[in-house]
Amino acid sequence: MIKVYNPADGSVVGEAPEMTTAEVLAAIDRTCDAFPAWAGLLAKERGARLRRWFEMVSADRRDFAELMVKENGKCMSEALGEVAYGLGFIEWYAEEAKRVYGDTIPTHAPNASVIVTKEPVGPTAAITPWNFPFMMIARKIATALAAGCTMIIKPSEETPLTAYKLLDYARKAGIPEGVFEMVTGDPKTIGEAFTADDRIQKISFTGSTNVGRILARHSAATLKKMTMELGGNAPFIVFDDVDVDEAVAGLVAAKLRNSGQVCISPNRIYVQDAIYDVFAEKLKVAVERIRVDQGLQEEFVVGPLINQSAVNKVEALVADAVTHGAKVLSGGELARKNSLFYRPTILVEVPDDAQIRTTEIFGPVFPLYRFTTEDEVTRRANDTEYGLVAYAFTPNLGTAFRMSRNIKSGMVVINSGSVGTESVPFGGVKQSGYGREGSYYGIQEYVSVKYTLMAGLDK
Ligand code: ADP
Repeated sequence: MIKVYNPADGSVVGEAPEMTTAEVLAAIDRTCDAFPAWAGLLAKERGARLRRWFEMVSADRRDFAELMVKENGKCMSEALGEVAYGLGFIEWYAEEAKRVYGDTIPTHAPNASVIVTKEPVGPTAAITPWNFPFMMIARKIATALAAGCTMIIKPSEETPLTAYKLLDYARKAGIPEGVFEMVTGDPKTIGEAFTADDRIQKISFTGSTNVGRILARHSAATLKKMTMELGGNAPFIVFDDVDVDEAVAGLVAAKLRNSGQVCISPNRIYVQDAIYDVFAEKLKVAVERIRVDQGLQEEFVVGPLINQSAVNKVEALVADAVTHGAKVLSGGELARKNSLFYRPTILVEVPDDAQIRTTEIFGPVFPLYRFTTEDEVTRRANDTEYGLVAYAFTPNLGTAFRMSRNIKSGMVVINSGSVGTESVPFGGVKQSGYGREGSYYGIQEYVSVKYTLMAGLDK
């Protein structure tokens, strides 16, 4: 059995099965065997099952949120927010199941018709991370099932309890064995079983770029379709004509979500010269107002990091930045000795050669860089292997549009710290991956396009 620990106090929250290879292969068989019947259901019926699942989980949303506070460490208000976010995908795709439209194309041949239809790609697999234990699973499975695919999921072994609870509710809602399967155990063995199986047509992965590359390499032999939501190194650009308080509020909300353990977390904060010092001071006041604590109460707090290696990584990045000349304006240490609670930390005058500039931090650290011109900040923002999201704050329409055009990322957010919801296409470019989740675009990743030429219609 895999033991699941509460990162706030190290207590055991529960356990999940450590499956053998034979058990994993049997679950893959069920996923593949269930495909024809599920794909053959009317789209309306698939949507109805998703809708039932949505309603049953909605009724118990607090139980899901509490479980997430315990196994992940995020605070209650965030956990409830995540449940609402994840439910949004189930609701959206319950509706979208009926709207996977095809096309007709004006014929190129006499007495013929050209018809384009969309078919579910087949049985699929997904691997998800621990930072959004509910939403990541809801988003992938709802899309796959709506399109008519079946799916087997390997959740993170750090947070499998929310995943199994979602599965339990899905069963009760009439989503049968095989249509939605779940496995936990050794990630490498399970990843290899998924990628080696030539019946699995697609893999959707959210996690590190490194593991994404391994999965892509292993999928080459069977040429799987893939959706990759990988690492990020988001720039957050603040121009000197902004309302500083608004920009600070947007930054704090985006950065402290899940204690900074989010792929879209602002990772490099570029502030224009003229407002750099006042911005840093206001940020310090805002950040120091927020408590660091376990999260079972309603108040927003910064929770623990997921495990000791996450703390070690953040400590090493801060130490390296300081060695290179950055100054600690706030935080820079654990909130309590021998715990996983790291204080929100502001680093100012961070030089470009510090490791923190090129590394995804995954912790509550705000590294502030100084810039002078728009051209300069555009070049520096794009100087990264990643391209998931970029944030910019400016009231100037021209600057805003140029940011949208000139920053190389899958998503650009102007004057807000909020990115994801079910109705928008979430995803990256460059080493942040490919494919989109959410919206009309998300479901297109689970269908293949079939063109049929109907000739001889004069007969
Ligand atoms: P993170 O740093 O967010 O934990 P990972 O990429 O390590 O990112 O983990 C994301 C998911 O990938 C988790 O479910 C993890 O168990 C899984 N994983 C890790 N290593 C492998 C691997 N070699 N093959 C398949 N899945 C893996």
